[in-house]
Amino acid sequence: MQIIYVLAGVKPAVRFGISEKYFKYLRKTFGALGLFVMKSNFYVRDQITCRGAKYTYSRSFSPVSKDPQIFVYVSKDKALCLTLRESEMHNDDISFGKLLGYPECCVEHFASHRYTKPGDFFISTLHEQECSSFSFLNNFALCIFDIKILCHYPCSPDCARSLKLAGMYLKVLRSRFSAYAAFLKRQLKSMIICTRSGSLVYSNKYSKRGQKIVFDEINGQMGDPLFKMVSGNEFVNIGRNGVKVGNKTLKDANTKIILYE
Ligand SMILES: [Zn+2]
Repeated sequence: MQIIYVLAGVKPAVRFGISEKYFKYLRKTFGALGLFVMKSNFYVRDQITCRGAKYTYSRSFSPVSKDPQIFVYVSKDKALCLTLRESEMHNDDISFGKLLGYPECCVEHFASHRYTKPGDFFISTLHEQECSSFSFLNNFALCIFDIKILCHYPCSPDCARSLKLAGMYLKVLRSRFSAYAAFLKRQLKSMIICTRSGSLVYSNKYSKRGQKIVFDEINGQMGDPLFKMVSGNEFVNIGRNGVKVGNKTLKDANTKIILYE
């Protein structure tokens, strides 16, 4: 999807991990589309793991396995690929994020916070209200299900620069893959319940009736304790003492409900 944005000229570059054995093929395929592909000058060691909102990996300057992993930088601009590579080598997160086209406010917010638990990012970027509603365009909470329009974590759910970007991205998707764009919009218009400990469930068939939110179905990851607890119910209540699912109050005091509309 990010490649589509780059091809359409609404995103300057993209970086992602691949097996080095695919590099030649990727360079040929993307080259035919007018894109430059450059590989990182290090190997990515260990599986990339998501710690909170950040991905961590370690580097090696010689292949450590039979199937070494690398990062690739893809852009219409060869010089930009080079700058990205250098910027990543020097751990310059802020320049790196800006070069990828992320808004300055989001890059700086992301770089200045250390999120160690999966739920940290969403909780700390939300407003203090018990229940808040925002535009579906900025919904990045469902990135764990690979449902997103944006390519970065917005610094807040109502970040104006992210909204503008997401609007441009959606326009590109609509013009090329209208059914997929409509699917994303339907999914992203959702009620999300998340906790600081990292549980997250969502429903895109819900209605708000005062402090009560009624839903027809709930989606989440198997084994998630919040998913287990919410899936047997049809509504949640938001009160002064926190969020109640059926008759039970959710123990995590940082439980938040966000409505993306
Ligand atoms: Zn922002």
